[in-house]
Amino acid sequence: RREAALADSHGSGRTADGHAVPLLANIGTADDARRAATQDVEGSGLFRTEFLFLDRDQAPTLEEQTETYTTVLEAFGERKVVVRTLDAGADKPLVFADQGEDENPALGVRGLRLSRAREDLLDTQLEALAAAHRATGGDLHVMAPMVATVEEARWFAEKVRATGLPHVGIMIEVPAAAINARHLLAEVDFASIGTNDLSQYTYAADRMQGELADLLSPWQPALLAMVQAACIGGAETDSAIGVCGEAGGDPLVALVLVGLGVSTLSMAPGKVTAVRAALARHDLATCQEMARRAVAAPTAEAARQAVIDLAHPEV
Ligand code: PEP
Ligand code: MG
Repeated sequence: RREAALADSHGSGRTADGHAVPLLANIGTADDARRAATQDVEGSGLFRTEFLFLDRDQAPTLEEQTETYTTVLEAFGERKVVVRTLDAGADKPLVFADQGEDENPALGVRGLRLSRAREDLLDTQLEALAAAHRATGGDLHVMAPMVATVEEARWFAEKVRATGLPHVGIMIEVPAAAINARHLLAEVDFASIGTNDLSQYTYAADRMQGELADLLSPWQPALLAMVQAACIGGAETDSAIGVCGEAGGDPLVALVLVGLGVSTLSMAPGKVTAVRAALARHDLATCQEMARRAVAAPTAEAARQAVIDLAHPEV
């Protein structure tokens, strides 16, 4: 029966009572975009552009980037595409933007911090995105990684708007941004929560360390509290808050995120069907009750159990 329900699952994401939750694909390349666009997704909520920049001696040219972004936008047609600007740093080093060794790469000059140090790289990327947008008329949204302060959000928003791009956002993946979301969101149009880094920075646990997996569980109460803080900031500023970290691809966690007020979920394309099926079996009030119990739980295990107790038996 579970297989049958999954096979039945198609169309836009929505709860049992019809509350829409667009389900989007995470992509990293133009090939990913072509593949994901053939699937039942409502667009891409995270295009990780760093794959264009890694493992090469020189930055991709304006023409090369324009071509890639155009291909991605064409693949999705009228569907939404959220492009994340370059997210590199000492953990994902670039030969042509060597900022030296960082003692703690995850805490160093990475993400938007690198863009501020190498504004020329961001300028070319935004120019290419604007050209691809003009060429396709696609539904393009541009967001910055690793934003921590209002000044950073403002700096990025001004640059994006100056290129004529219509929608500018930030990732919330640093606790400072989650706690201060209301003020950061006053500068931009939307935010997307990166639960992978938000877990890492909330629990001071390297996301690449398999033995720390328990601390990086999406059920950990302090992570859920961070997501809740971001959603409260979103509600106060009337801003859409998405999730594009791995947590959104777990059907049970997805219900909690929706209950907390997350409006879109972006995930590996292979996860969409199960998340859509889970949403279709629960109404919004149940998701909200799940969220209330999960954020009130003292431990990750208690949060998960509290949600399982309310969930449809087949999720
Ligand atoms: C995240 O941090 O959750 C995220 C989506 O970005 P990345 O995994 O690329 O760091
Ligand atoms: Mg991240």
